[in-house]
Amino acid sequence: MRKTVETVTGAIPVEQLGKTLVHEHFAFGYPGFSGDISLGAFDFQEALQVGIAVAESVMAQGVKTVVDPTPNECGRNPELLRKIATETGLQIICATGYYYEGEGATPYFKFRQALGTAEEDIYEMFMKEITDGIGTTGVKPGIIKLASSKDMITDYEMMFFKAAARVHNETGITILTHTQEGTMGPEQAKLLVEEGVNPQSIIIGHMCGNTDVSYHLRTLETGVNIGFDRFGIQGLVGAPFDKERLVTLIGLLNSGYERQIMLSHDTVNYWMGRPPVLPESVQKIMANWQPVYIFEEILPKLKAAGITEETINTLFIENPLALFSAETKVKA
Ligand SMILES: [Zn+2]
Repeated sequence: MRKTVETVTGAIPVEQLGKTLVHEHFAFGYPGFSGDISLGAFDFQEALQVGIAVAESVMAQGVKTVVDPTPNECGRNPELLRKIATETGLQIICATGYYYEGEGATPYFKFRQALGTAEEDIYEMFMKEITDGIGTTGVKPGIIKLASSKDMITDYEMMFFKAAARVHNETGITILTHTQEGTMGPEQAKLLVEEGVNPQSIIIGHMCGNTDVSYHLRTLETGVNIGFDRFGIQGLVGAPFDKERLVTLIGLLNSGYERQIMLSHDTVNYWMGRPPVLPESVQKIMANWQPVYIFEEILPKLKAAGITEETINTLFIENPLALFSAETKVKA
C-alpha cells in the first residue's frame, strides 16, 4: 500500500485524505485567456478570496481534500492552490497534464510531435514535475490528468496516454481523466490497463455524461473507478440532467458498484480571462453548479432512494483512499 500522496503543501499519509471531492477547479481558463489581459487580467487576490470562500464552504460539509485537475495550459496555478490550502487547512491535490485536443493548447507539443520527440518530451515533463515539483514552486502534482475527444482518442492525445502509463508504471502515480460528452470511457480504461496501469489507480472522469448503463458496465468491468463528477452541469457541453444522472447512479449503486464510484461537480470557481456570460435560460438550469450542491441537494435524494449513509461514506472516503493507495508494482 502506498503510504503518502502529494498535496500542494507536501506529502500526507493517505489515511489523512478523509472526505474528498475528486474533481473541482479553483481556477480555470480556456487556452487563449492569457491574450485577453486588457479585459480579463488574472487577479491573484480575487482568485484567492474566492478560493478561500470555496474551501471554507466545502470544509463546512466535512470535506478534507479537493482534487483540482486543472491541466497545465488551462491556468493551473500551484501558488494559488498552495495559498488557499495554507490559509484554510483544506488539502488540495493538483495535476500534471494537458487538455483534450479540441480545447487544449496543442501547437507546442504538435510541433514537437512533427519533430518526433513529443511523447518522450511529455514523459520527461511528467517525471520532472512529479519528482522535483512544478517549475520553481516545489509543489508536486498528486495525479496525472488525461483527456480525450468526443468519439475518439486522437494521435495527439494518445501521446499523453502512453507517456502517462509509462510514468505510472515507474512511480505509481494516480491517473484522472476527462471524457468528452459521454464518450470513450471504456476505451480510455482499456487502453490504460493494457499499458500496464493498475485499474484501481485510475478514475475515468465525467462518466455521468452518459446515461447508457452498458457504457458504464463496459468501463467498470476493467476494474477502474468512474467519476459522477459533473453534478450541477446541465444543458451545456452535451450534459444530461441531474435527474438522469441520479437514475444511472442509483442503478449502479444497487448493482454493487459502490466501490468504484466517486462524486463531484467539476465547478470552475474563478475564470481566468473574462468570466463567461451564459444565456439566461442556461443560467437558470446551471444555478446548482456549486461545490456544495451534492451535499445539500443530491445526497438527500440518494438517501430517499434507499442509499445508506455507509455507502455514501464509501463514495466520499473509502474510494478516494483506495484510489490514492492502490498498490502498483513500480518498475524502476
Ligand atoms: Zn474539470
